[in-house]
Amino acid sequence: MHELAITQSMITIVNETVKGKDVIVREIRIEVGEHTCIEKHTLEGCFEVCTENTPLKGVQLTFIDIPASWKCKECHYTFEQRVVDACPRCSHTNLTMVTGRELQVKSLEVEPVNKDDSHGN
Ligand SMILES: [Zn+2]
Repeated sequence: MHELAITQSMITIVNETVKGKDVIVREIRIEVGEHTCIEKHTLEGCFEVCTENTPLKGVQLTFIDIPASWKCKECHYTFEQRVVDACPRCSHTNLTMVTGRELQVKSLEVEPVNKDDSHGN
């Protein structure tokens, strides 16, 4: 169940990001490549369990799907395709995946903590 480990590392990243800032996290946007082997609903479930009794409880997870793309090492043609056998341009099979294996916290939606005392400035 590697979703649990992934969730815990994401929570660590989020906590590090907002550490020392007077903000409340509202939403966590996560890039997920098409070929990333995770179950989103499992990830959401793990997140719910891991953030119980923490400030991140109830924060919305938004998944951004990243389509797989490939680059041909022969003609350097780059193209989006889920599964590929050969380069559509030159038919070579010497291809590398450019995108499609992402799994990372892309951005956070935060809002300032309401405080009665203003800092002036
Ligand atoms: Zn090619």
